[in-house]
Amino acid sequence: TERKTTKPDFSVQPHELSCIKKVIGIVSGKGGVGKSLATSLLAVTMNRRGYNSAILDADITGPSIPKAFGIKEKAMGNELGLLPVKTKTGIDIMSINLLLNNETDPVVWRGPIIAGTVKQFWSDVIWNDVDYMFVDMPPGTGDVPLTVFQSLAVDGIIIVTSPQELVSMIVSKAVKMAEMMNIPILGIVENMSYFKCPDCDKEYPIFGESHIEELAKEHKIPVFAKLPIDPKLAAACDKGMIELFDGNWLDPIADKLEK
Ligand code: ADP
Repeated sequence: TERKTTKPDFSVQPHELSCIKKVIGIVSGKGGVGKSLATSLLAVTMNRRGYNSAILDADITGPSIPKAFGIKEKAMGNELGLLPVKTKTGIDIMSINLLLNNETDPVVWRGPIIAGTVKQFWSDVIWNDVDYMFVDMPPGTGDVPLTVFQSLAVDGIIIVTSPQELVSMIVSKAVKMAEMMNIPILGIVENMSYFKCPDCDKEYPIFGESHIEELAKEHKIPVFAKLPIDPKLAAACDKGMIELFDGNWLDPIADKLEK
């Protein structure tokens, strides 16, 4: 029998009418660390810099992108393919929640079906003119993210962690997965890194001291960024107004992406 290889075959071709310049996968060791928030902020940041950005929401079992952008309408298709939905500022989005009639229905599909859906978001969606596509990956380093990485032509990875995780282990796993597939790790985002007191501006490391610098050095990850715990960010996600966020936290990573 044939041995499974971990080499990417990029077997899934994008739609013939798609034009996507760079594809960035956003990964995390587990759910709930702020991967979707970081994905949204990156797309908004690049959009503000004048690039056409897009989000492919591959987090099928926990799709939170449409809500953060306040998208109410459903995705439409024509005889050629499926069309992404545009946000208020013009970011193209595709997510399972834009296809389900009732977006509160849980998606209880098995791995292969989930991976197949993500592949279709790549092959059947007309991504018209995209400078930067951000893929909100399924969390973890299991079968589903692996299949997704093997079938989509991802140019680089950004890892999202939080200080309270057993960070180094999770980062090591993500680094190994990326190495196996020859995908460069472009940067690492530490979310919920600190809380800045609105009265005195002092920064408090609520979840413990940051390890991001050591980690970046240890794994030779070129840039890193820290996101504060910010009730305004949570509220913006909740209200579908993430495009209005105020902060330049991800600039180091955005600079790196521009190069
Ligand atoms: P993941 O995609 O890793 O599962 P999310 O990005 O959906 O995680 O974040 C989980 C929840 O935590 C969301 O409700 C989000 O608004 C909130 N959250 C994440 N990061 C922050 C932050 N830095 N400050 C405030 N709230 C945050």
